[in-house]
Amino acid sequence: MTKLRLAIVGAGPAGIYAADILLKAERKFDVSIDLFEQLPAPYGLVRYGVAPDHPRIKGIINALRDVLDRGDIRIFGNVRFGVDITLDDLKHHYNAVIFSTGAVEDAPLDIPGIDLDGSYGAAEFVSWFDGHPDVPRTWPLEAESIAVIGNGNVALDVARMLAKHPEDLLPTEIPANVHEGLQQSPVTDVHVFGRRGPAQVKFTPLELRELGELNDVDMILADEDFDYDEASKAAVASNKQVMVIDRVLQHWRKRETGQASRRLHLHFYAKPLEVVDDGSGKVAAFRYERTRPDGQGGVEGTGEIREVPIQALYRAVGYFGSPLPGVPFDSRHGVIPNHEGKVLHPESNERVPGVYATGWIKRGPVGLIGHTKSDAMETISHVINDQADWWAPAEPEEEAVVALLESRGVAYTDLEGWHLLDQHEIALGEPQGRARIKVVPREEMVAISRAQPSGTGTPSA
Ligand SMILES: Cc1cc2nc3c(=O)[nH]c(=O)nc-3n(C[C@H](O)[C@H](O)[C@H](O)COP(=O)(O)OP(=O)(O)OC[C@H]3O[C@@H](n4cnc5c(N)ncnc54)[C@H](O)[C@@H]3O)c2cc1C
Repeated sequence: MTKLRLAIVGAGPAGIYAADILLKAERKFDVSIDLFEQLPAPYGLVRYGVAPDHPRIKGIINALRDVLDRGDIRIFGNVRFGVDITLDDLKHHYNAVIFSTGAVEDAPLDIPGIDLDGSYGAAEFVSWFDGHPDVPRTWPLEAESIAVIGNGNVALDVARMLAKHPEDLLPTEIPANVHEGLQQSPVTDVHVFGRRGPAQVKFTPLELRELGELNDVDMILADEDFDYDEASKAAVASNKQVMVIDRVLQHWRKRETGQASRRLHLHFYAKPLEVVDDGSGKVAAFRYERTRPDGQGGVEGTGEIREVPIQALYRAVGYFGSPLPGVPFDSRHGVIPNHEGKVLHPESNERVPGVYATGWIKRGPVGLIGHTKSDAMETISHVINDQADWWAPAEPEEEAVVALLESRGVAYTDLEGWHLLDQHEIALGEPQGRARIKVVPREEMVAISRAQPSGTGTPSA
C-alpha cells in the first residue's frame, strides 16, 4: 500500500487537528505524520495566547493532548522550520508538507508616536503574561494610566490582565515571574478605545461580561456614547450578540462607582490620531478624534480632538503572520497565499505542488480555536485527493529525519519529553494548590523534556 509521509510545521490547534483528521479520514493509503514545532511545548496560542484566567479555553489542551497521546503522530519540538530544517530537507524526506505556523506578530497601527518608549504591541505583552520562552522575563509595568487600543477580545484580555489584581490571578497557571511583575504595577486606570460605537464592537459577550466581575475594579462608561443612531438601534434589536453586549453595558452604566481602587474605562467613537511624546521620547498621552455614527453602521470624524494622559499604550489591533523561508508569502495580508489550503505562487497563482497551509497562516488571524478544525478538514481533503502531485522523497524512512536532526545537533523534544515537562509543571503547582506553574526559560524546558538536570545545557546542541 502507498504510504504518505507527511510533515506538519506548527503544533498549534490547526496542526494537531489536521493530523487527527487525516489519520481518521477514509483513504486508500497509509499515513505517517511528523509534527515539527519551534517551541519545546506544543499547543501554540492555546498555551501562549489564551489568557491564563480562561481555564475553560485552556482546557482545550486536554483534547489536543488526547490526540497526541494516541501515539500515532511523532512530534519534534524545539525544531524551527527555516533554521533547523528547511523546505529542501522536507522534500528529501516527505511526500508533502502542511504549514500551520499561525500568527504571532502585532499588526501595525500607523500613527505618529506609536514607537515611543512605553508603547507596546498586545502580542508581546500576551507572550509575556503567558510565559512564552522567547520574550524577556520582565515587563515594564510602571504606568498608573494605560491606554489599550482595539475593540476585540484581545484588547479585553490585555485590559483585564492589566486591571486585575495579581492575587486574583494566583489560582491560574500564570508563571511566577508574571505574578511578581504584576504585583509591582501601580496602575489605577485602564482606558480601552474603539473607533466605533457599542453596537459595533467585536468583543464577544462572555469576555465582555467578565470585566464587570473583576474584584475592586469599577467599569466606567460615558453617557455620550449611548446616544444610538438608527443603525445602532437596529443592530441592538436584530442581533442577539449585540443585544447582550448592549444589555451588559447598560447594566454597568447604572452601577454605583467610586469605591474601587482601579478603574477600567470603555471609550467608544475614538479614532486614534497620535501617541503624544513627553519630550523625552516617552508616552505622555493618547490623542484621538471623536467620531460619530454615519447612519450606515460606520463612523465619520467630528473634527473634535481629545487627549487622555497616559504613561503606557498597548495596541490590540490584530495579529499578523510571518514569512517562512522558501515558502510563498502574501505580505499584505500576512498569510501564505492559497486556495482552500493549497499553496499558490503569489505572482502566477500557480499551485506549489506538495505544499499546503491551514489555520491562521492560511486564512488570517481571525476566528476561534474551533474554526481551525473546519480549516483543517478542507486542507486535508486536498492532501488526500492530490496524490498525483505529492513529492517523491529520496529518503522517506522514519529514522532518516531523526538522523538528520541529530547530525545537526538539534536538541529536539518529543512526546515523552512533553509528558515530563507537563508533569513537572503540574508538580510545581501542587504545593500551592495551583493547576500548574509554567516553566518559562527555553533551556529549562528543553532540559526537563530531555530529562537533564537544569543548567547543564542541551544534550546535543
Ligand atoms: C491573545 C489571544 C487570545 C485568544 N483567546 C482565545 C479564546 O479565548 N478562545 C478561542 O477559541 N480562541 C482564542 N484565540 C484564538 C486562537 O488562539 C487561534 O484561533 C488558534 O490558536 C489558531 O491556531 P493555529 O494553529 O493556526 O496557530 P497557533 O496557535 O499560533 O499555532 C502555530 C504554531 O506554529 C509554531 N510555529 C510558528 N512558526 C514556526 C516555525 N518556523 N517552525 C516551527 N513551528 C513554528 C508556533 O510556535 C505555534 O506553536 C486567541 C488568540 C489570541 C492571540
